[in-house]
Amino acid sequence: MDDSPALIRTSAAELYDAYVLKNYARASLTLVRGSGVHVWDDQGNRYLDFTSGVAVSALGHCHPHWVEAVRQQAGELIHASNLFRNSNQAELARRLVGYSGSGRVFFCNSGAEANEALIKLARLHGMGKAGGEEGKCYKVVCANQAFHGRTFGGMSATPQEKIQHGFRPMTPGFVFGELNNLASFETLVDDGTAAILVETIQGEGGVHPCTAEFLAGLRRLCDRKNLLLLLDEVQCGVGRTGRFYAFEHAGIRPDAIGMAKGLGGGFPIGAMWVGERSAELFQPGSHGTTFGGTPLACAAALAVLDVIEKEKLLAHVTAAAGPWFESLKRLAVDFPAHVRGVRGRGFLVGIEMAGEPAAYISALRERGLLALAASGNVVRLLPPLIASSADLAMSVEIVRSAFSART
Ligand code: PLP
Repeated sequence: MDDSPALIRTSAAELYDAYVLKNYARASLTLVRGSGVHVWDDQGNRYLDFTSGVAVSALGHCHPHWVEAVRQQAGELIHASNLFRNSNQAELARRLVGYSGSGRVFFCNSGAEANEALIKLARLHGMGKAGGEEGKCYKVVCANQAFHGRTFGGMSATPQEKIQHGFRPMTPGFVFGELNNLASFETLVDDGTAAILVETIQGEGGVHPCTAEFLAGLRRLCDRKNLLLLLDEVQCGVGRTGRFYAFEHAGIRPDAIGMAKGLGGGFPIGAMWVGERSAELFQPGSHGTTFGGTPLACAAALAVLDVIEKEKLLAHVTAAAGPWFESLKRLAVDFPAHVRGVRGRGFLVGIEMAGEPAAYISALRERGLLALAASGNVVRLLPPLIASSADLAMSVEIVRSAFSART
C-alpha cells in the first residue's frame, strides 16, 4: 500500500464538502490573500472587505506594523501559560485599564469566553450579595435579540430560537427585557438578580444601539439595586464606533466589559475588564484558561492599540462615518421598495431590507463588496477602521449599483 501523501491537489471547496463540519452556510468563495481593505479569492478576484472578518480585522488585512509585531514575537516567545508572567500581557492590561478605568483585566481567546467571564463575575457578585450563600442570587437580565456567544452561558443569554434550538436545557438564571425600555428591565429585577448584561450595540441581532438614556437608566438601576452592569463590547468595542468603547458615547461606566474581535486585529484574543470594586471577586483558582493572554496574542493586541493611537483611528472613524452614514441613509429614499431604514454608529451599520438579505449580499459580492447579514433582514457593513472616505464612498456606489439592478 502506498502511504505517501496524496499528490493530487484537491480544491478547498471539495475538501470542505468532504471534511469540514457543516455548521456554517458559507459563501462559495475561497479567500487566499488580504491587504488593507481588500481580500482576494483563489480566482484572482478582489473584494472590498466590509465584513472585517466579522468586526475582527480592525486594521484591515496585514497591516505592516501588526505583521512585524507578530512576526517578531513569534520568533521570541509564543506561549508560556498563565502560570508565569509575560510582559506583553502586563503591558496590554495596563493599556486596557487606561481605556476602561481603574480595575483589572482577565485575558481569554474569544468573545464567548469574555462573556463567560462576565457571567461568572455576576455569579460571584450575587453570592456576595446573598451573604455568601450560593444559588440564591444569580439572575442576569439580558435583552431580547441579544447575541452573547455559543458557549452554554453565552447561548443561555441569547434568546434566539436559531441559536438555542437543539441544545436545551439552557443554563438557568437568564431573563430578558426589551432593549431601550428601562421599565421592562426594572420589572425583571428582584432579590435574586445579580447583574444586567447587554451589548452596547446589538450586532448579530440586527444592529440595534442602546440609547444613551437607556444605558444611563441601567446604570442608575444597577446602583440602586446593587447589580453589576456588564457590557458586551465584543462587536462594537475597540474603536468601531469612533470611541474606544461604544458606551463612552453615553457618558457612563459599566462595572465590567467583555471584548474580543477587533482587539487582536485577526489574532484570537478576548478580555474582560473588571472595575476596582469587583476585581477582587476572582481569586487564584476561581477562573482560568490555558491560552488566554499569550505573549503572541498580546503582541498582536498591543500592535492594534499602537495603530489605533498612532494613526488616530478613533478621530478618523468619527469624521469619516458621518458622510458615509448620510449617503447610506439616502438609500431608503432612493430605493423605498428595498430599504426600510439604516441604523448604527461609526463603522457598524445595518441596512434593514424589505426582504431576506441573502440575495442582496450575493449581488454586492458579485460587484466586489463583502457584506454580512444580521437578524431582521439586515445587510450589515463593518469596514476596517482604516477604511478611507474613498473606500466608504466606493461601498455606497456598489450598494447603489446592486440595488438599482434589482429594481
Ligand atoms: N458577543 C457579541 C456581541 C458578538 O457579536 C459575538 C460574535 O459575533 C460574540 C459575543 C461571540 O464572540 P466569539 O465568536 O468570538 O466567541
